[in-house]
Amino acid sequence: MKKYIIGNWKMNLNVHESSLFAAKLAQSLPIKRGVETVICPSFLSLQPVSLQINHRQMKLGAQNCYWRDEGAFTGEISAAQLRGLAQYVIVGHSERRDVFNEDDRDIRFKVQAALRNYIRPILCVGETEMERNDGDTEHVLCDQVASGLMNVGSDQLDQVLIAYEPVWAIGSSAPASNDDIAAAVKVVRTQVEHMFGKTASETVPILYGGSSNLENGREILSITGVDGLLVGRASLIAPEFVGLVNAAAEISREEK
Ligand code: PEP
Repeated sequence: MKKYIIGNWKMNLNVHESSLFAAKLAQSLPIKRGVETVICPSFLSLQPVSLQINHRQMKLGAQNCYWRDEGAFTGEISAAQLRGLAQYVIVGHSERRDVFNEDDRDIRFKVQAALRNYIRPILCVGETEMERNDGDTEHVLCDQVASGLMNVGSDQLDQVLIAYEPVWAIGSSAPASNDDIAAAVKVVRTQVEHMFGKTASETVPILYGGSSNLENGREILSITGVDGLLVGRASLIAPEFVGLVNAAAEISREEK
């Protein structure tokens, strides 16, 4: 199975710094068949970075999009505007849900906007610490997947990626345990199976995100059902990010 290593740069690096960092990555990122490497700079940096990178070496993702294609929506950037520039877009990141009050409806519409503009949505799902302590993890994951993928056609699902990102593990000191990740990924696949059938549930790429780095990434990538990593902080450290891509390439080779 193909592996995905996706770097979410969040609100870091200005345009100049983004270009420098992309150039630094380009010096050592391998081009491997079994791995799709994606960087997600800020909206401002997408265009200049797009012009400088080798698109066989890395693809571009946006960190968000608005779901209407055009109109009087001051300050927003639509998936239609990103079309042709970004190949991926992160949708429903917990920081969007929490800080910007995005709800399931916004997220669902964004998934659809991405798909109709030929951009692959990376649908983020995950429970908060409180939901976890209340034993609600399974329920939350099923709800978020069901809602996010509602109205997605079965002929479109092969364009969708899902990232399991437990909110309590993002930006923290450690990732979720291997057992927790494996269990959550199983719940997500089962929900996809209910909606789209067995084959779809086995092939939809599911990534893990939350405090992954070079030290723990290889082990996480080896968990059954995990097809890649959505990486925050470690994606801004070139040797860490490149190391994760190399680890993913090795694991993809071993799985063949
Ligand atoms: C994220 O915000 O998606 C993320 C995974 O961040 P970090 O790797 O820094 O925990």
